[in-house]
Amino acid sequence: MSAAAAGDAQRRTGNPLAPAWLSVPQDLAALDPAIWPEDFGRDAAGRLTVGGIPADELVGRWGSPLYVYSEDAFRRRARQFRDAFAEAFAPLGAEVSVYYAGKSFLTTEVVRWVREEGLNVDTASGGELAVALRGGMPPERIALHGNNKSAAEIVRALEAGIGRIVVDSLAEIELVGRLARGLGVVAPVMIRVTPGVHASTHEFIATAHEDQKFGLSLAAPEDGGDSPALQAVAACTADPALDLRGLHCHIGSQIFDAEGFGLAAERVLALAAEAAERFGTELPELDLGGGYGIAYTEADDPRPAREIAESLAGKVAAAARALGTAVPHLSIEPGRAISGPSGCTLYTVGTLKTVAVEPGAQRRYVSVDGGMSDNARPVLYGADYTAVLAGRPAAAGPVLSRVVGKHCESGDVVVRDVYLPEDLAAGDVLAVPATGAYCWALSSNYNWVPRPPVVAVRTEGEQPGARLIVRGETEDDLLARDLGA
Ligand SMILES: *Cc1c(COP(=O)(O)O)cnc(C)c1O
Repeated sequence: MSAAAAGDAQRRTGNPLAPAWLSVPQDLAALDPAIWPEDFGRDAAGRLTVGGIPADELVGRWGSPLYVYSEDAFRRRARQFRDAFAEAFAPLGAEVSVYYAGKSFLTTEVVRWVREEGLNVDTASGGELAVALRGGMPPERIALHGNNKSAAEIVRALEAGIGRIVVDSLAEIELVGRLARGLGVVAPVMIRVTPGVHASTHEFIATAHEDQKFGLSLAAPEDGGDSPALQAVAACTADPALDLRGLHCHIGSQIFDAEGFGLAAERVLALAAEAAERFGTELPELDLGGGYGIAYTEADDPRPAREIAESLAGKVAAAARALGTAVPHLSIEPGRAISGPSGCTLYTVGTLKTVAVEPGAQRRYVSVDGGMSDNARPVLYGADYTAVLAGRPAAAGPVLSRVVGKHCESGDVVVRDVYLPEDLAAGDVLAVPATGAYCWALSSNYNWVPRPPVVAVRTEGEQPGARLIVRGETEDDLLARDLGA
């Protein structure tokens, strides 16, 4: 087959190198509403807009790569979780606290959004705790997680008076108790238990024993005796410096339905009932963690917050009824489901290269001015993304493309498979959606590349328009800690 004939065939049927889930787009300008929140659109000239502001203007002002968030989308998604869960659990007589998982994307500005929308915040290190406090989050609305918290981190949390420390081991229960006593305070704690349920995307696995670093297992040891989780309840109950509020679990990430959460809730509530019976410990709270999935590509089909909340409420109510206990105060910890779809990354296209991979099948490599330093997820987890031409409308048909970064690694992929216009050229602005979670947070200076700035766009409120919320790194920033020469 000639190259031209192969090109024609690929336009009709798709490139044989493309994964089965990837469809050939009918309209290269279309923004899949499952992936792009309503805050992203196209203007009359065919340019991608964020809150009405053209993406190429944002790049003109702040350069690329550029992280752009729709503050409206972030706040709306935060409210959707807050309201959906509150409404689903209200008929059960239970209140719900939503803790935004700060590790997905946290800056002082984000803390303000979260605070103003009535959510709490989860932190997982002394650094995240410092950002939450600096951002003005009331300490009682902050939680501290971690499987290896330092004494300094625990002291900082206790001195600040944060709402809860999620304890992760028997040794840590001892340590938190000792440090609280030393400060003359009572530490509010939750126990992280591993319920033997791992969920990811469409499936969950239920096991008895867990082979992971987090939490305390619900499974009794083979030689009999109490499970580590039950021992933890006993230890917390026995220590007057600890105020045990309840049990916590987190079963995975990018989860699309409520089945796994339901089974985890059943198991954890059963432990709470056993604790009440054995030690008289009343556990008024249940935290089911985060992990609510989002659409990165057309292959993902997440359920709306309302559907998950209703399904979960049904399962928690059934479990409580079966055990004859009250429905506890519920907490959830969504991270990516709030921050992920709210952000996108803008890149400028550089080198284009078409590689003959097999007879009749070629792949176009599109190099952009960022890569694994601003989005480590494809390298770290094999994560898939998609992309669109952002600065102008397409003038030609779709070509299977792989968007790659500028780093010295052949695995430096941003978007593994996407159809982009054949007329894509150096200087075009490309937008990758759903990069709001775990991209900026995981960014690095690999190859001494400075980290990009973060811009937030708001259409409502007192400050409509686009503004910088984190400036980009400069060469001086890169060299600031280098003590040589
Ligand atoms: C990572 C994490 C979350 C958030 O996960 P998402 O997938 O971003 O929702 C919540 N709770 C705990 C304990 C976590 O470790």
